[in-house]
Amino acid sequence: MPALKVCALYPELMNIYADRGNLLMLQRRCAWRGLGFEVAAATLGDRVDPAAHDLFYLGGGQDRDQRLCAFDLVETKREALHEAAAAGKLVLGVCGGYQLLGHSYALGDEEIPGIGLVDVRTVREDAPRLIGNVAIELEDGRVLAGFENHGGRTHLGAGEQPLGRVLRGHGNDGRSGFEGVRRGTVIGTYLHGPLLPKNAWFADWLIATALGVDELEPLDDALEDAAHVQARAAAGL
Ligand code: GLN
Repeated sequence: MPALKVCALYPELMNIYADRGNLLMLQRRCAWRGLGFEVAAATLGDRVDPAAHDLFYLGGGQDRDQRLCAFDLVETKREALHEAAAAGKLVLGVCGGYQLLGHSYALGDEEIPGIGLVDVRTVREDAPRLIGNVAIELEDGRVLAGFENHGGRTHLGAGEQPLGRVLRGHGNDGRSGFEGVRRGTVIGTYLHGPLLPKNAWFADWLIATALGVDELEPLDDALEDAAHVQARAAAGL
């Protein structure tokens, strides 16, 4: 039986806005289809084996917890995550996790390092936090809906593609009209919600991509579809 193997990075520190629900969603959707699901936690000081997992997941966090994880991530996991990404493994970062996939997160004089998997930089401006419901459109026209709350403004490097275009909400920096980043199988986004329960199609895309299959057995998604519609409506779509 094929199994989705997930490595949850700092699950006890990087988990705000119920981001842990993303893991639960993956687990359930695998189980409902008779697919295996394994999750391993890697926290402060732990090394990760890039070959042992299909998907590396990093949720959102407060600046304080994020700082703690950032130094550890750079020191003990950076290389492995670069290896994993180079081998086509999925890496998903949400909000604070997204910021840490980039080069840095600057807060005034302080610079929190990132692992530079994507060419993005985040800065904390002397401006209000970007908070609210958000909806974005991906290149293929599909929509992700969720909730954002971040002080950091994220800027994409010249060659970097956003995950989507902002339909409603603030996105990366409140100005560019871009949300998130996608470089192959490395994805960063500000969308909480949590992201996956509100966007079941995206959870399935992750599972299918991770397992290298074209199609997954369809599920009865009446409740998931309703959650998605409600999230879109909350954002004003
Ligand atoms: N601490 C980061 C910020 O405020 C990320 C917040 C989050 O993960 N929601 O920008």
